[in-house]
Amino acid sequence: MTTTEKITDKEAVLTSVDPATGATLATYPIADDEAVRAAVAKARAAAPAWEQLGFDERRKALLRWSSKLVAKSDEFCELIHAENGKPLDDAFLELMLALEHIAWAAKHAKKVLAPQKVPSGPMMSNFSARIEYRPLGVIGVIGPWNYPVYTPNGSIAYALAAGNTVVFKPSEYSTGIGNFLAEAFAEANPQLPEGVFRTVNGYGATGAALVKAGVDKVAFTGSPGTGRKIMAAAADTLTPVLLECGGKDPVIVAADADVSAAADAVAWGATSNSGQTCAGVERVYVDKSVRDEFVTELTRILTDVKPGSDKNAHYGPMTMPSQIAIVKRHIEDALARGGKAVLGGVESVKERFIEPVVLVDVDEDSAAVKEETFGPTVTVTTVNSIDEAIELANNTTYGLASAVYSKSRGVEIARRLKVGATSVNSVLGFAAIPGLPFGGSADSGIGRIHGEPGLREFVRPHSIAVQRFAIPGMALLSYRRTQANMKMLRKMVPLLHGRHK
Ligand code: NAD
Repeated sequence: MTTTEKITDKEAVLTSVDPATGATLATYPIADDEAVRAAVAKARAAAPAWEQLGFDERRKALLRWSSKLVAKSDEFCELIHAENGKPLDDAFLELMLALEHIAWAAKHAKKVLAPQKVPSGPMMSNFSARIEYRPLGVIGVIGPWNYPVYTPNGSIAYALAAGNTVVFKPSEYSTGIGNFLAEAFAEANPQLPEGVFRTVNGYGATGAALVKAGVDKVAFTGSPGTGRKIMAAAADTLTPVLLECGGKDPVIVAADADVSAAADAVAWGATSNSGQTCAGVERVYVDKSVRDEFVTELTRILTDVKPGSDKNAHYGPMTMPSQIAIVKRHIEDALARGGKAVLGGVESVKERFIEPVVLVDVDEDSAAVKEETFGPTVTVTTVNSIDEAIELANNTTYGLASAVYSKSRGVEIARRLKVGATSVNSVLGFAAIPGLPFGGSADSGIGRIHGEPGLREFVRPHSIAVQRFAIPGMALLSYRRTQANMKMLRKMVPLLHGRHK
């Protein structure tokens, strides 16, 4: 980083605002390179003690953290509502999902990461062999704002359960929420060194400083563009990265679908959280035989769905003001290329809120179909067959998640989608099941959070081969090897590997 790029040269404080009103909520000092390095050093110093606690004590510490979050849930949900914009009930649901993941990681780490004995093989039968899993050390977690509790926790809780310490850079749009999480951990665990889980606050430059601060892995959630920058920066030190990036998730509605259930799920999956969901519904491919029924039902449901920040609102404001122009551009492009808005239109995009928009027969090359919209809009395309639906669904640079509505062929269709997760006869079901890994490929990122793979992301396998006894006259890994050894090997190898026709 050059001196001119230093965060401290740009802005000394970060101001957190209510996206519904623009009112200031709080200000936070911005962590510059030095502050980030100091936070990583504290986390590094705390790492041995946290690792040595072992799985059982770490489980207790993580569950105490959960209970603290439950005890403070009213205050926390008010903060999530104020800083992020989502309705209070949605804030509570998000917290509940995060707690499910903390509990799963805390309770399963010991079993998933237990040492494993492996067979040593006929040539090495005098050895015992085992794999042990060691924590990586300090994990730098960089989070987004759309699910500011649930999403970064997919890395934080799993990294902690595996025995790592964590430095977390929350999104600049959810700094208060990120700090609340870390403070609750410290309050629940005053006996622990303060570096086990801490935050560094700031904009992208603070995240960039974290990538360069000597962490042992970077776990990032955010846009593919930032993911690329992080991977490039991490390449300098060969720091491994876990990248959870965007999506353009399709839903396939087959001829034998429960159309009303599909419309209900798509209405919610496309517009809840103002459509700001990485695995939310952005595109629908519906069989021509049920198309009219589906579109009628979808628009009927969404006609009554309203954004706002009052108690009756279904979803809140756009959290990030710059996203509003992107959503508008996508709607305009879809209409300019021959698509039709059957609900809403460009006029649905207000100053802070966007009303639901349903676009039909949109050109497959338009921005609304190709790029992540991240707003409460959905495109609906009519298809003649399941094959066509699958081909169009897979015709994207993303590969995050998807859903299929079909009474008889759901799993068969799911298996043909190039994604990391599919819900059959539901949307987003996989995200609420902690044992299921979550993540994507291509523009959607690298690696997995959640489940067993989510724990394994934060450990290094350590192979241990122990020679239990020496085989007399068989010194293969030594200059004492004899021609008699080689003669026997030449007999054994064809028996072991040369018999297959
Ligand atoms: P973003 O990429 O703008 O920012 C994400 C984080 O990266 C923020 O904390 C930001 O400060 C930080 N950052 C920015 N520049 C950086 C840099 N050069 N180096 C290091 N850190 C940097 O993304 P966003 O707008 O906060 O989040 C929305 C995106 O996140 C969408 O694309 C969405 O699909 C994706 N997302 C993905 C998942 C998932 O699990 N796959 C979950 C939620 C959101």
